[in-house]
Amino acid sequence: MIPYYKPIAKEVEVFEHSYKQKLPFLLKGPTGTGKSRFIEYMAHQLNKELITVSCHEETSATDLIGRYIIKGAQTVWLDGPLTIAVKTGAILYLDEIAEARPDVIVAIHSLTDHRRELFIDKLGETVKAHKDFMLVASFNPGYQKGFKELKPSTKQRFVAVSFDYPDAKVETEILVNETTIDIAEAKKLVNIANKIRNLTELGLTETVSTRLLVDAAKLISSGLPKRLSVHVAIVEPLTDDLEVITALKDLSDLMI
Ligand code: ADP
Repeated sequence: MIPYYKPIAKEVEVFEHSYKQKLPFLLKGPTGTGKSRFIEYMAHQLNKELITVSCHEETSATDLIGRYIIKGAQTVWLDGPLTIAVKTGAILYLDEIAEARPDVIVAIHSLTDHRRELFIDKLGETVKAHKDFMLVASFNPGYQKGFKELKPSTKQRFVAVSFDYPDAKVETEILVNETTIDIAEAKKLVNIANKIRNLTELGLTETVSTRLLVDAAKLISSGLPKRLSVHVAIVEPLTDDLEVITALKDLSDLMI
């Protein structure tokens, strides 16, 4: 099945050319803005295998490159997802790369420049990347505190595209396509989202993403009352502050 992705700007074209040139690609933007969906779609369009690694603070170079494991009385080497992608010519997607340990950035260094090779220190081997291999990473610039930064010297190794919340018309279209909600309901959800997005004084670390709207729309289409759907899919995931929850509940109840 073709993943559904609604292009927002020129990202499809930029990606196609970056793929042709095998330039590393960085998707920047807040959570739930379609970055993962975009890369799934592009891999499908280009007919390439996609290997995704969701990075977290424990993700290390070893997790990506590979390790020795004990099998019976023997130790055998097991390639990690990065090594597999480099050898087989897949697209490797490092989701939330800034969360990973610093040795991950070191490990991908020689893959993100003209060398296009991976050094496997535990084996003392250097592997040349397959001609189809491409490295893609995502990063949430999170202008608020609590988000990890990506060093400028690392960012400069990628072609980068920004993802953001789509305009109301496009976002409504996404909701209608992703769920069975009707257009009038979708519009209301998008209005609620935009209202909350504009309430910068609430100091939310992250605001309403398209993902939250899709979740609310799914609950509504499934038959859950609308206000309750908005409350549990949009308001509660955004904050734990009781006062803010009450304020957002009042506001969204009025709008749906
Ligand atoms: P991210 O990787 O940026 O956190 P996702 O790609 O997981 O976000 O997007 C979250 C959800 O939002 C998707 O599952 C999809 O339902 C919806 N979505 C967001 N943007 C788009 C888009 N441009 N086209 C289609 N679906 C989208």
